[in-house]
Amino acid sequence: MKVVLSQIDTKEALNKLYTACRTCYNAGKPEDMYANVNETPDENKIKLLSAVIRSGHHSVLEHQTLTFFISGVSRALTHQLVRHRIASYSQQSQRYCEFKDGKFDYVVPNKIQNNPEAFKIFDELMQKDAEVYEKLIQLGLPAEDARSVLPQACCSNIVVSMNIRSFMHFCNERLCTCAQLEIRQLAQEMAKSAGEALPFLRPYFVPKCEMLGYCNEPDKRSCHRRPTFDTFIRKEN
Ligand SMILES: Cc1cc2nc3c(=O)[nH]c(=O)nc-3n(C[C@H](O)[C@H](O)[C@H](O)COP(=O)(O)OP(=O)(O)OC[C@H]3O[C@@H](n4cnc5c(N)ncnc54)[C@H](O)[C@@H]3O)c2cc1C
Repeated sequence: MKVVLSQIDTKEALNKLYTACRTCYNAGKPEDMYANVNETPDENKIKLLSAVIRSGHHSVLEHQTLTFFISGVSRALTHQLVRHRIASYSQQSQRYCEFKDGKFDYVVPNKIQNNPEAFKIFDELMQKDAEVYEKLIQLGLPAEDARSVLPQACCSNIVVSMNIRSFMHFCNERLCTCAQLEIRQLAQEMAKSAGEALPFLRPYFVPKCEMLGYCNEPDKRSCHRRPTFDTFIRKEN
């Protein structure tokens, strides 16, 4: 898996988000606030932005977008990723990209990798899949039909753009230990690079329990990093 975040101008992002926040609470014109934005110290901008985020006015975060270039992830992962609808995607096509000689890369889930017997069965099936795929291509079938035999483990490349509000929600859901390991690892990589580019937003690129203060998953699924809902409510009362 490789994740690259497209370049972001940190200062410009802060200025833009700050101007969006200020516009809500100031009688002045946004263009004037933006023109004079450098007169305000960054720490004051971050203070206002943080207060706005904490109060739940997350629409201001929609003015900044993050674009990630992602390769070497499974189709099982991308199927989960694209369920996040408030985003834009461009994914390598299995219709237009034919696997030469039937050879495709695939992701081996950790637990299969660590179990020699499971790995053997898994790997044999991948080889068989490649053979059948190639045979169908040799029979003159188009890649769009031959791909039907490809597994969910098959590697894919995808470009995803999300605004910060949507990205925060993605992190909250997919950094949770209830998320499947591969997409959780992707979320960790994405959160790391986004946090480096926009350090003033790093505290929000976290699992949902960190935002809620409690875990809203059933007790048996909870990692107990935070108290579960019932325990939390009892403690609060
Ligand atoms: C641990 C885990 C397990 C999961 N298991 C399953 C599963 O078993 N089966 C399954 O199908 N999915 C499953 N999902 C996927 C999940 O149901 C969501 O589809 C996915 O997390 C995207 O979340 P979202 O819809 O909130 O995000 P987005 O689509 O990005 O939407 C963001 C927010 O916009 C609003 N919104 C978007 N579209 C609408 C709309 N049409 N109407 C009203 N509000 C809208 C909502 O507030 C939503 O939270 C799982 C996800 C996780 C994290």
